[in-house]
Amino acid sequence: QAKGFGRNQMHVFDVQLDHAVQTQHTRQTRVAQALHAGELVLHYQPKVNLRTGEILGLEALLRWQHPDQGLLGPQHVLPLIEDAELEVEVGEWVLRQALAQMRQWTDAGMLWEVSVNISAPHFHRANFVERLKDILHTCPEVSPTRLELEILESAALQDMQYMRHMMQSCQALGVRFALDDFGTGFSSLSYLKRLPAETIKIDQSFVRGILEDGDDLTLVSAIVALAAAFHRHVVAEGVETAEQCAKLLALGCERAQGFGIARPMPAHEVLTWAREHAARHAARAVQEAARR
Ligand code: C2E
Ligand code: MG
Ligand code: MG
Ligand code: MG
Repeated sequence: QAKGFGRNQMHVFDVQLDHAVQTQHTRQTRVAQALHAGELVLHYQPKVNLRTGEILGLEALLRWQHPDQGLLGPQHVLPLIEDAELEVEVGEWVLRQALAQMRQWTDAGMLWEVSVNISAPHFHRANFVERLKDILHTCPEVSPTRLELEILESAALQDMQYMRHMMQSCQALGVRFALDDFGTGFSSLSYLKRLPAETIKIDQSFVRGILEDGDDLTLVSAIVALAAAFHRHVVAEGVETAEQCAKLLALGCERAQGFGIARPMPAHEVLTWAREHAARHAARAVQEAARR
């Protein structure tokens, strides 16, 4: 029903636009409120060595414990954040929360590493390194070497010179880096050479297909070889089955994370999971020794 853009029409359009802006504003405000009300929480997903069973660390993943809607994933939080200030506020909360959790695990004798996802706008803040240093200083019980920052490969490609400089400044504090969702960002070999990340995480979209899809298998093998050539660690993301684990081991990729190993869980479940995981692994080792 094509009508002309009359005066009233424009008015309606303005009102709609106003409404859209307001909705965005209230949605973002909800995130700020959730943060201040303590509704944001971190869940932790273990990362293990498939061969030895060793727990290599845990990735902190953002959740919103919504009063009406239950537990919501980061896709219900992160896209609502438009304002750079709030982006930084949430990002710094995640860092402080992860460090506080590491301190608790330290008290329980668990010196696990924790990986924190850092958004590009947060990482690109002018004072990111200074702030990170301050946050680390508030938690002297936790060595900065136990903190890993995950940066999306796609974000890392934007300003190579600057990224490299920033990463090196953080590494001078002891912190380490992983390139997340590797393989989706179209990086060339020379990029990997210039980015000083210790670890590469193979995107789950490639890992998912390694048994059925020859192209995925080729990609994963190539990334594993690339990582080895550049002396980087490589972690497979999104590992769901025992068959995938076996295939990854055969390809020389020992480090993995995925629902097949453990789902992300609340912090208070991690110690129990770790005990059970160790028992399972010990039982399997005994079985394998018996078979030989
Ligand atoms: P990511 O960093 O690549 O994290 C892995 C995502 O894959 C997580 O989803 C995890 O729950 C999911 N996953 C792990 N194993 C499997 C598996 O075997 N199968 C499948 N289908 N999925 C698996 P989640 O928690 O929904 O997070 C999605 C993305 O949101 C993350 O991707 C990360 O980019 C971002 N994110 C999460 N927490 C934070 C945060 O605190 N800050 C920032 N800036 N981004 C975050
Ligand atoms: Mg990640
Ligand atoms: Mg990823
Ligand atoms: Mg991802």
